[in-house]
Amino acid sequence: MGTVPKGTAPKSLKFMKLSQIGEFGLIKEIQKGIRLSPRVIKGIGDDAAVIRSRVGKNLLVTTDMMAEGVHFTTAMDPLAIGHKALATNISDIAAMGGTPTCAVIAFGAPSGIELKQVTDVFQGIKNTARRFKIDVVGGDTIKTNRIVINITLLGEAFPQQLVYRSGAKPGDVIFVTGALGDSLKSGRHLKFVPRLKESQYLVKNWKPSSMIDISDGLVADLGHILEMSQVGAVLEEGLIPCQGQASLTQALYDGEDYELLFTLPRVQARRMLSKPQAGFSFYPIGEILTSKENFLLQKRNGRRQILNRKGFEHFK
Ligand SMILES: [Mg+2]
Repeated sequence: MGTVPKGTAPKSLKFMKLSQIGEFGLIKEIQKGIRLSPRVIKGIGDDAAVIRSRVGKNLLVTTDMMAEGVHFTTAMDPLAIGHKALATNISDIAAMGGTPTCAVIAFGAPSGIELKQVTDVFQGIKNTARRFKIDVVGGDTIKTNRIVINITLLGEAFPQQLVYRSGAKPGDVIFVTGALGDSLKSGRHLKFVPRLKESQYLVKNWKPSSMIDISDGLVADLGHILEMSQVGAVLEEGLIPCQGQASLTQALYDGEDYELLFTLPRVQARRMLSKPQAGFSFYPIGEILTSKENFLLQKRNGRRQILNRKGFEHFK
């Protein structure tokens, strides 16, 4: 267990099991400390939440599921697990060029689990929700054999700010927002900051032709852009930023970096690289090619190597 901030659970609840307070007791615990913004007309406590819709903006919806034994273990800090459950969703909204608004949380846990472990997971979610101005407006809890967390996140965007995976064009420059590799072993995957500020800056000041967040690995996620855009790509070995001690292979294939990967038309890319970008680092790492068969790595020694798209695949 990691460190826990004061006030996450009253002393009387400290050594209680989840079964001792039951579902309604848990919902009360979850509701503590939640402050809602004016866009929420009705939050937790009715059959459904009611949210004011915004004229002129499109509604975005994403969901991400995490299970004990697959994505995390109970030995990990429950606050960090909660953070990650929400942050992966924020990263997906950011990858579309949107801003997150409201979240609903579906949660399952064994009844014999310590209550504090559960309230800390929710505290982790609430801390990150507050930081990113997200309203937690509802959810559901059930008894399961192992902990399961599924957050559905709503977001919004002006139609002209939406960025899809399908817009990359030959000649576009490929960028990444940060160094890659070794996220799982180093523990960064539990602490990462979703690139929402970067995304907002990009869609307001530039017009990325395509964008995705790197969850399955650089090669796998760039592969999604290439497939959806019907193009190819060449990555420059010497330009790929590697995290700490991470090798090039790790930077190419490790997952869970949650950096943004985007493409910009060459003229815009040149302008972007010619001046500082409000404190953000955007690393050019390659270029979009014409044929969708071409997915290459330009080696430092001048040779070109074909990249295979083995990244993280679910169900394998
Ligand atoms: Mg994604």
